[in-house]
Amino acid sequence: MMRQYELVERVKRYNPSTDEALLNRAYVYAMMAHGNQKRASGDLFFGHPLEVAAILTDLKLDDATIAAAVLHDTVEDTQATLEEINKSFGPQIGALVDGLTKIKRLDLVSKRAAQGENFRKLLLAVADDVRVLLVKLADRLHNMRTLGFMPPEKRKRIAEETLEIYAPLAGRMGIQEMREELEGLSFQNLDPEAYEAISRHLREVTSKSEKLVEEIEQDLKAKLLAQGIEAEVTGRQKRPYSIWRKMERKSVSFEQLSDIFGFRVIVGTNDECYRALGVVHTTWPMVPGRYKDYISTPKQNDYRSIHTTVIGPGRQRVELQIRTRDMDEIAEYGIAAHALYKEGVNDSSRLAKESRAYQWLRRTIDLLAEGDNPEEFLEHTKLELFHDQVFCFTPKGRLIALPRGATPIDFAYAVHTDVGNTAVGCKINGRMSPLLTELQNGDEVEIVRADGQTPPAAWESLVMTGKARASIRRATRAAVRRQYTGLGHQILERAFERAGRAFSDEKLKGALPRLARASMEDVLAAVGRGEMFSGDVVRAVYPDYKDERRPVPTVGVAQADGQSGESTPSGIPIRGLNSDMPIRFAPEGGAVPGDRIVGILTPGEGVTIYPIQSSALAAFDNEPDRWIDVRWDLETSDRQRFPARIKLQSINEPGSLAQIAQVIADHDGNIDNVSMKRRTQDFTDMTVDLTVWDLKHLNAIIAELRAKRVVSRVDRVNG
Ligand code: MN
Repeated sequence: MMRQYELVERVKRYNPSTDEALLNRAYVYAMMAHGNQKRASGDLFFGHPLEVAAILTDLKLDDATIAAAVLHDTVEDTQATLEEINKSFGPQIGALVDGLTKIKRLDLVSKRAAQGENFRKLLLAVADDVRVLLVKLADRLHNMRTLGFMPPEKRKRIAEETLEIYAPLAGRMGIQEMREELEGLSFQNLDPEAYEAISRHLREVTSKSEKLVEEIEQDLKAKLLAQGIEAEVTGRQKRPYSIWRKMERKSVSFEQLSDIFGFRVIVGTNDECYRALGVVHTTWPMVPGRYKDYISTPKQNDYRSIHTTVIGPGRQRVELQIRTRDMDEIAEYGIAAHALYKEGVNDSSRLAKESRAYQWLRRTIDLLAEGDNPEEFLEHTKLELFHDQVFCFTPKGRLIALPRGATPIDFAYAVHTDVGNTAVGCKINGRMSPLLTELQNGDEVEIVRADGQTPPAAWESLVMTGKARASIRRATRAAVRRQYTGLGHQILERAFERAGRAFSDEKLKGALPRLARASMEDVLAAVGRGEMFSGDVVRAVYPDYKDERRPVPTVGVAQADGQSGESTPSGIPIRGLNSDMPIRFAPEGGAVPGDRIVGILTPGEGVTIYPIQSSALAAFDNEPDRWIDVRWDLETSDRQRFPARIKLQSINEPGSLAQIAQVIADHDGNIDNVSMKRRTQDFTDMTVDLTVWDLKHLNAIIAELRAKRVVSRVDRVNG
């Protein structure tokens, strides 16, 4: 295991002014925290964070990153707390460790292949400091190097995840060496046979063509020198994984793969890059379509180089990368190559250096998030953009990405439309929570469902996602149609009963052509909506039927108080009384629960509810088809207020109106509107519109008003 002084030495090599005390404290703290914990290999656990820190010293990272690497597993795996870390090491290192702890918790959730994209975004959303990602990558690299001690199933899962998420992330951050190692280790674990076969082939080719590589190296060097360009030329073999990918992508065999050699030409200046290219292209024929100039147009991650492929000696295709020393550093170490110690060794203030480096790292996050080209990796330009999203999980670990502000209702619809439609409650992180809670990153959401539900129409305006909105609208519309269909059925039964003819579905089906409708449902809904009259349906079913108008039915109203419930077949329940119902109340002096009521069908509008004593009903005396039995069907749980109107006569004296208003307020009535008309010197007539719970409530208010000395008369107005 690495010793304390060894770690400090490693850092000192590239940063002479390192904070030795800080590194020592981190070392001791982590060692104490991990104690005797062991890894799967049987080694002491503490060796792992040290190796992670060592990997990061190769990338020449700053003290805070190295310390965070040493501490990265303490909060999640030991008794250590974030508060303690913050107190002992300061908020900067605390924030890094916190980011790593969060990512580690995400790791615990199993992930599916198709979620790679989302998971990468999640990583970026959680890690708002690129150094967190660097530590995470080093952590993964060390875990991959020691993967052999894990059970096969776990090995496979970790290797897949590495290949899908972490290797591309390293590539995106420009750390090619790390990307290649991660890919190689993943490949080796996922498909050991293929890895072995390709490695064997590569060894054979190398032994055969060793001379060739050397030849090309010497040849190229000499030709460049002849033009006054001093260059370092190194040939190297492609890695097994990239060869395997190419074999898969192009469906070619190993033998058919021509360009398994790549040469890197390192020169002094930009200018020399282009001159070297000229030499190469005049010496060997270039392969069309392979030339790329990333010097004039660098990649988003700051990668700069010239790429070309030529037909070299022995008809062997040879890939060349031409660049300067500086460009090469960035190509190898990416973001890490920009670490502060390169430029700032003689900077006066350490703090200034760190903050400059930090800014630089922040800026590169933007590049990181941008990606090479639009369809690749991350489509947004700024990492902050992911802060517009929340990432939540189903109990089975499926990742659901939602816009910020989304609710469990959005979540339910994102999982499945049926789940949304039947959602009645939810658990967030195991705790029952309201369906309108705003979800947070990493929440685990379990939707509680009940069959036969229709989502409340009000949800439509409360959800964030288009999918949820559209689904709620569709479900509501279907419910309304069901409502109309049921209403039509009631109307028809009644009409047939009045006509003294039998009604059955079969008979109605037979009459569909005469009614020019495709289905029973269409007919029922049309009658319910008032687009088709019940009399027409009766005549369609019984062409011999002559419509003799009968007098208005006497009552035909079921009541909530049960007085005459037995006199009629079951009425139409008035459920919810919300806007998504085809039922509404007469606009003036409407009914309140407890009133005897009747419904009047109006074509195109639905059913209007009147109190049975309403004078407005006289207008429908000659239209028996339009009279509908209705009754109250209110659950105590959805208690709501209903509008009512009263007429008052009061004595004219100061404060009389205040007294009246007080009575209504004391009885929990809401006054919507008061209109006054002075009748005589002594009395004032007024109309009061108020909302009440039910008839009992209204009567109580009226009784109390009558008891007031200033009130001479009170009457309810019934339309
Ligand atoms: Mn770790």
